[in-house]
Formats: sequence, structure tokens, C-alpha cells
Amino acid sequence: MRANQSRFGYKLALWALILMAAASGKASAQSGDSVHSESGTSVRQIAVVIDDLGNNMKGTAQMLDLPIKLTVAVMPFLPTTRKDAEAAFQKGHDVIVHLPMEPVRGKPSWLGPNAILTTLSDEEIRKRVEMAIQDVPHAVGMNNHMGSKATADERVMRIVLQVCKEKGLFFLDSRTSYKSVIPKVAAEVGIPLLRNDVFLDDVYSTQHVSKQLRVVREHVDKHERCITIGHVGPGGLITSGTLRSAIPELERTSRFVRLTQLLPPLPAQR
Ligand SMILES: [Zn+2]
Repeated sequence: MRANQSRFGYKLALWALILMAAASGKASAQSGDSVHSESGTSVRQIAVVIDDLGNNMKGTAQMLDLPIKLTVAVMPFLPTTRKDAEAAFQKGHDVIVHLPMEPVRGKPSWLGPNAILTTLSDEEIRKRVEMAIQDVPHAVGMNNHMGSKATADERVMRIVLQVCKEKGLFFLDSRTSYKSVIPKVAAEVGIPLLRNDVFLDDVYSTQHVSKQLRVVREHVDKHERCITIGHVGPGGLITSGTLRSAIPELERTSRFVRLTQLLPPLPAQR
């Protein structure tokens, strides 16, 4: 009787051990660094992209010091282009080229040097895109600064995306125009494409940025991931401060990731 009991106890203990091992294996798989877990369960992911660095803009240091991984979009050919890109890279953020592109409306002076205009020749567009990539150290991707006109132009976008492909860069469609041809041309060219879901700071106020962060929260609850764009500049301190306060709450259910962590896996070699 006693022997049976102890054998039963031993079996029970063994089962407990097996179950515990299985549970801890599952937990470590879920908390691992991989974006796509093998079991298909996904962790909610938020990618914060900060546009308009490179011109010593307000809020730059505060953004780079946020306790989360960011993607930082740096404009080429400006006074702090290299400095900002280097600082972001050193802090472990993703760096992308923030390519100035022609808008339907707006002053040319908002675009900065060597902007992509729809009046330029194929050769000139290619040259400007190549120069821009070369000017921003550590760039792994690209997105558009303004560009409601240029991103609706198939000829222009085919050249921009082809150069990105040649240099191994992905593209983030900021979605400044509902007429954007980027999804169509990116599929033709065969380049990884990501899309902005929520603009954080169209209006420079804490109330507005807080409201947009609630939109981010709702989006990620529904779709498991959200790409959101904020800016340095006139509202840079408001955006960075509001974002900093919201991080602990957002981190309860989501993980902050860099854009490269959201890229689809590379297609298998044939
Ligand atoms: Zn911009």
C-alpha cells in the first residue's frame, strides 16, 4: 500500500515536472525577440517613426532619449543630417532617409535641398535618390517628406523604389496622398513596403497627441500592430513629452519595435 502510494506520488511529481517544462517552454517562446512566433500567436507591436530630423529641430534629443526603440527619419543634405543619424544609430534606433518630395500644395522652401520634383528627368531623379541615401549614414529604409504630388506619379515612384531596391532599402509609405501609387509600384518593383497607420501630431497640442495615442491603442488592439509617425520641430517637445508619459501604459499590452522588425520575411531563394 505504501509502495503504491509513493509510486503514485512519484508519477504525479513527474507529470507536474513535464507540465511545468512545457509551460515554461511556451512562455519563453512568447517572450522571445522574434516577431513571428512559431505557434502563430502574435505579440502586439507598435512602431514609432519620428520624421524631420537633420535640421537641428526642436525635440530631437528628447525623442532620441525615449526609453523605447524608434525609427528615425533623417532628411538629407542638412546641417545635422549626419550628426542625428549617427546619434540615433548609437542609441540602437533604426535610421531611414526622409526623402523630400514635391507636394500638391506648399512652398518649395519647405522641401529642402535636392527634392524630388515631378518635372525632373529620370536621370536627375535617380541621381538625387542615390545622393540622399549616401548622405544619411546607417540608412536601412526610406520614407517620404511631404510628396502628395510625387507619390502619385508612377514614373517618379518607379525610379525612387528601384534605387531603394538596388541599395537594399525598404520603403515606408507615409500616406500623405490617397492617390499614392506606392503600393502598386512597390509590388511591381518587388520591394518591402510598410504603411503609416496614424499621424501623431498634425496639431501641436498635448490633447491632440494624447487623442492620437488612443487611436494607436485602438488600432493595435484590433490589428495587432500599428505604425505611427510623429515629428521633431515646432511640436517636437509636446510629442516627445506626451509619448514618454504614455509609454508605461502602452507597454502593458504591446511591445515597441523598430520598422525592420515589422518587415515581411525575405522570400525563399529559388
Ligand atoms: Zn517630413
